[in-house]
Amino acid sequence: MQGEGHFTGTPAVFVRFAGCNLRCWFCDTDFENGQELSEDEIVEAVLQYPTRYVVITGGEPTLQLTASLCDKLHAQGRYLMMETNGTRPLPEGCQVDWITCSPKLTPSLLKKDGMGLPIGHIDELKVVFEDSESQDIALYEQIPASEYRLQPCDTQDPQRNQEIIDKTINYILQHPQWKLSLQTHKILGVR
Ligand code: SF4
Repeated sequence: MQGEGHFTGTPAVFVRFAGCNLRCWFCDTDFENGQELSEDEIVEAVLQYPTRYVVITGGEPTLQLTASLCDKLHAQGRYLMMETNGTRPLPEGCQVDWITCSPKLTPSLLKKDGMGLPIGHIDELKVVFEDSESQDIALYEQIPASEYRLQPCDTQDPQRNQEIIDKTINYILQHPQWKLSLQTHKILGVR
């Protein structure tokens, strides 16, 4: 079940690529370990599920995604959604139907690059919110995207998490171009 962002509540198959080019302190994904599969084996595994939605994620999926894997999944009628940190362009020839970018670079680094992200086209910008005093959220608004979402950071500390949720909601109420994204799979205990 996709637990967060625009497609929250949508049944989806997750293709999780091992490896990431960043090391975020709040990362909740084991992206080091994995099983080596051919493209055909990935397609075969995806086809075991009836949903047409496939989430290409990681780690950082642009490190490994190929045009031929996208084509094979499309040929099976699958809709491809990607979750990326935005620091790399889409590999050549890859066709993805929906791109969610969760930029992990600090706003000052983003600003240095003129607010452009190598990934290029973004459907949904999802920013992990910790604190509007230390994060200049307005800078993220300069990144072109169709939808803007703030997602409270999960610190694993319930008290700190509640403070962050309250701050996130307050920020959104004051800046209504943003919508709330919750990690509903964690709330529901769904893996
Ligand atoms: S970019 Fe994503 S997968 Fe990579 S370290 Fe950061 S949170 Fe984890």
